[in-house]
This record gives sequence, C-alpha cells and structure tokens, in this order.
Amino acid sequence: MNAERLFSKLPPFLVEALTALGLIVVPFVLPYLDFAPNTVNRILVWGLFGIGFDILFGYTGLLSFGQSALYGTGGFVAAYLLTQAGFPHVITALMIGMIVAAVVGYLVGLIALRRTGIYFAMITVAIAEIFYFVEFNPLAEWTGGENGLPGVPTPSLNLGFATLNFTSGWSLYPFLAFCYFIGIVIALRIVRSPVGAVLRAIRENPLRAAAVGHNIHGYKLTAFVIAAAYAGLAGGLLGVLQAFMPPEAFTFDTSGQLVIQTAIGGRGTLFGPLLGAAVWLFLRDFLQATMGLGASWKLVLGIVFVLLVFFLRQGIIGGVRDLYRFVRGKAATPVEPKEESPVPGLTAEQEQKAAEAEVARQRAAAPMPARHPARSRLTGPILQTTGLSKHYGGLVANADINFAVKQGEVRGIIGPNGAGKTTFFKMLTCEVHPSAGKITFEGRDITGMSVTDVCQLGLTKSYQVNQLFNRLTVRENLTIAALAELRGKFRLDLLARLTKIRGLSEQVQHTLELVNLAGRADTPVSQLAYGEKRRLEVGLALASSPSLLLLDEPLAGMSPRERVETVKLLKSISQGRTMIIVDHDMASLFELAERITMLHEGRVLVEGTPDEIKRNADVQEAYLGGVHEVVHA
Ligand code: ATP
Repeated sequence: MNAERLFSKLPPFLVEALTALGLIVVPFVLPYLDFAPNTVNRILVWGLFGIGFDILFGYTGLLSFGQSALYGTGGFVAAYLLTQAGFPHVITALMIGMIVAAVVGYLVGLIALRRTGIYFAMITVAIAEIFYFVEFNPLAEWTGGENGLPGVPTPSLNLGFATLNFTSGWSLYPFLAFCYFIGIVIALRIVRSPVGAVLRAIRENPLRAAAVGHNIHGYKLTAFVIAAAYAGLAGGLLGVLQAFMPPEAFTFDTSGQLVIQTAIGGRGTLFGPLLGAAVWLFLRDFLQATMGLGASWKLVLGIVFVLLVFFLRQGIIGGVRDLYRFVRGKAATPVEPKEESPVPGLTAEQEQKAAEAEVARQRAAAPMPARHPARSRLTGPILQTTGLSKHYGGLVANADINFAVKQGEVRGIIGPNGAGKTTFFKMLTCEVHPSAGKITFEGRDITGMSVTDVCQLGLTKSYQVNQLFNRLTVRENLTIAALAELRGKFRLDLLARLTKIRGLSEQVQHTLELVNLAGRADTPVSQLAYGEKRRLEVGLALASSPSLLLLDEPLAGMSPRERVETVKLLKSISQGRTMIIVDHDMASLFELAERITMLHEGRVLVEGTPDEIKRNADVQEAYLGGVHEVVHA
C-alpha cells in the first residue's frame, strides 16, 4: 500500500502479489462476514471506478464531481452495443465503452481543466448534469431513457478446449476480480512512472511544477482521460453485473458516492476506493437489512462518514499508515530538523565527516553538462532586455529597462522596497508578460513565452517565498525538477519506471551534494529547518541544469550564521554558471556579484562593479542613508 512514495522501498511486485492473493481468498473469507456475492461484485466495480478517480483526485489533486458522466457513457455504449446493436462479444463491447469514455473524458477535460479549484469542480458537476439530461431526453431512443437498457449479457471466454461462462454471483466474481487486478497493476505502474511523479508534483504545487518545466495542463488532461477510461470500463461492468444498464449511473449521487468512498478508504492510495466501497456497501446492507432501518440508513451512514473524515482525515488506509509510522517512530530515534553546518565543539569524527561532505560538495559544484552544445558557441550576452516595461493600471512597476548579462557572469540586483526587482525577475522568467519591450535569451526572443517553455530553454529561478512540494521528500522534490530536463515538458511514458530514467539518480545526487542536503535526502520537506528549505528552493532551480539561474532573495529570512553558510554555498554554485541574484543583503551581494544593477522606481538607476556602486552618491541617496552602513560593511 506504499503507493504514496515515489521510490517504494517494498520488493518489486509485492503489492501486486498481495492483491492477487487477496482477490483469490475473498470468496472463501467474505461469506463468513455476511458479504453477499453480489455485494462483493459491486465493491469490485466501485473499486475499479475509484482507481481512476484516485489517480485524478488523490494523486493529481483534481476533485471532480462529474465522474458519473463517464461511468454512464462507458456503461451505455457497451450496453447499447450488446442489447440493441447485436454486438456479440461482451469483452470487446466493454473495451469499446471504455475507449469512448476516454475520448469523451478528453473532450470534457479540455473544457473543465481551463479552470482550477472550486471552479473546476463546479464545471464537472454541470457537465455531469448535461450528460444526465442528454441520456433522458435527446438520446432516450438509444439509451432507453428512464427505463435504461435491460438484457445486458454476461461474458464468456472460449479457451478452445472449454468455454468459461461468468454468469452471476460467485460465478461472475473471477471475471470482475481479474478486471480489478489488471486495473490495479496498470495503475501501480502509472503512479510509479515519471508521469505519476509529475502528477504528485501538480497536486502539491502546480505553480512550481510548471516553473520547473512540466506542461501541467497536458498532465492534468492525461489524469482526466485515465480516470475516464477506468470510469467507462466500470460503467460497462455495472451493466454486466446487473444484466441491466440503469440510468442512475449518470446521476450526481453516483459521483458523490465515489468521492465519499474514496475519502473513507483513503485517497492517494489506489486501494482506498475499494475499501471505502466495502465499508459503504456493507454498512448499507447491514443497516437496511439486519438493523431494519429502512430509509434512515443514509442518516446513520452520513454520521459514520462525518466521524471517519473527522478522525481519519486521510481515510482508513491513511489512518493505518499514520499509526504504523507512529509506532515505528517510537521505536526509532526521532530525527530533529536541524542544520548540518559546522558548529563549535565538534568531535574529531564529526569534523572528519563535515570535511568529507565539503569535499563532496566542492566536487559537485561543477555544473552539469550544458543541455545544448550550441550554448558554448554563444558570443553575445546570454540575456538581454530592451525597453522592458510593466504597468499595472496607472502604476509603473518597471519602465524602459535595458539590461544585459554576459555568459558566466554573476550579476546582483539591488533596490529599495517597491523598486520593481521582483516584477523584473517575473518578466525575465515569463511569469508575467511585459507591457512593452523585448527579452532575448541566448539570442532568441522569449518575450511572451510560457514559464514552462522558458525553463525548458534553460532559464529558471528560485523563489523569494519557498515554492516546494511539501509532502514529498528532498530527493523527490529534486527528482521532479530533474525529470523536466531529462524528459522534456511532456511525455506519456506512463508505464516506464522512474528508477530506469537514464541519468536521473546521478543528476539528483549531484544537486543534493551541491546544495548540501545529501544527508537529508529522504526527509519530507515539512521536517526541514528553514535554512534547509531555502537551500532546497535553490536546488529545485539547479536540478533542471539551467544555463541562467535567477535567485530571488536567496538570503531572505535567514539568521546571520545561515547567511554566511548560504553565501559560501552560492559562491561554490556560481563556479562556471551565469547567475542573477536579487537580495537586500548588500554586503553579501557585493561579495558574490561581479557587477551590480540598481533599480529605483522601476528604472535602472546605476550599474557598475561593487566598488563603484558602494561609492555612488545616487545609490546612497536612493537608500536615504538608511542602508549606508550596510553598503560600507
Ligand atoms: P520588494 O523588495 O519589497 O520585494 P520589489 O523591488 O521586488 O519590492 P515589486 O514587487 O516588483 O518590487 O513591486 C514594484 C511595484 O509594483 C510595487 O509598487 C508593487 O506594489 C507593484 N506591483 C507588483 N506586482 C503587482 C501586481 N500584481 N498588481 C499591482 N501592482 C503590483
């Protein structure tokens, strides 16, 4: 069940083998727990439906309330083929239903994914309502309207020497269990693939996932289509299971029940929806039949749901996982978030280790090989802006900025608060588009490009406020960034293994050493000290091997000791790299940069070497003397 981590420590195929074993023993165990075969079959159909939904919701963070549209589409296409069109092969009809649902999912996704958050959820609700209406009215002739489509046949498999007929109850179970098993095997491959890693990154921080070079719209659409395909197959199986395709498949209740079951079982686990369905359907049967609650079973179930969500926010599987971690955490020595920088009073052994780490970091400081050999032949400036301006209504954030940086240079940018430094950086990385002017990077006009495309070209930045993937570990964070460089902005290697991507582990290890976080590689971001998070922020930008690295206030919020350490780190990183650094700590910036550009009221006030800037009267004037002493520090 360790589907949450990018790099599972479990032996290969263990989860698959345990799933197969579980599915084999179910018919021998569940009858003793009062599970009727029809209930078990229904759980499998919901579980299969939920696998796709979990990839969309649990892994990608997209909460859709419109899955019923795709469940109904797949179900009705398969049922229509089998009952009205005289199609003889049940399994092929199910496949066709699944493919049609995936295609419809693609079209629905194109519309719904234009919005995020609550607006995305609202669009999915509206689309599902449209599908429900269409099934009942314009398409009633084909779908049977409120009567649905009765007479859906069950599958049979001709093995040559014998024919297997899967009819109903336990006789249908092996067929449904096989479908579920194939579904989970494929889903496990997907969530362990590079695409699965990017989906988690989108869930954690879509802005940063795009900024490190992933086409997040393409990947979200992929998750939507995958969820649609699972929904379509499950819809078809519902018709087979009931020998009837009910119009209720299209209702909002269906989508709502799927969300509730996934929340009960545990999202982001793949098995959560199956477990949630088991709890939901068992309780429903138990409350209705055994307890004789009649229609009020929904009230009790509602209360159970509220309690479960209240006490187990990550669902049953999440609760068990937390309990396991808690027990293991008690057994193991807790690791406190702390800085690894040398402190006074180290033992000889600690000093030796610190020295070795420093040597490794120095070695790692060599830049990764350039992505494009053409870069080494670049003659003009690596980055140039002409007449760059940005207006927000009447406010002029940047005006007519002409700026150029040579390859290999380390440039500092200073300026008082509100001078326009961050806006300038945002325009350089194409996070915001200029009102006027042009940006040229490596001789190419990048004005108006997307932040993702610009990162793919080799220009990226670290953020003033950390933009990390918080629930992932340090190694996983860097993996996300390195993947964008190694695979490009979009690739559908859904079944590839993350561990088999050539050069990935080396690139991640290199960056870990570069930012001095090798010892914290498997620590979740939430457990890092602030200084470590800042280093990881820089590491995320570095992991994509940029040819131009922008650092937005890398020293912000650090203690004096952390500043000294980080300046040392930035110095080693700057070897052989082109960097532009914005910071308010001028003493540190003068130590790092070869040239300084000063912005004031959105314009370039002065540019020169650190010594020239220190002596410049305009700079002193702009800072109103308040930073005078710092400048001379
Ligand atoms: P600081 O050092 O405080 O981070 P800065 O030099 O980075 O400041 P910017 O953040 O670029 O300055 O802001 C420049 C001006 O543009 C400010 O007056 C700011 O209020 C304005 N500004 C920035 N972003 C926006 C926006 N999205 N909408 C309206 N005004 C904005």
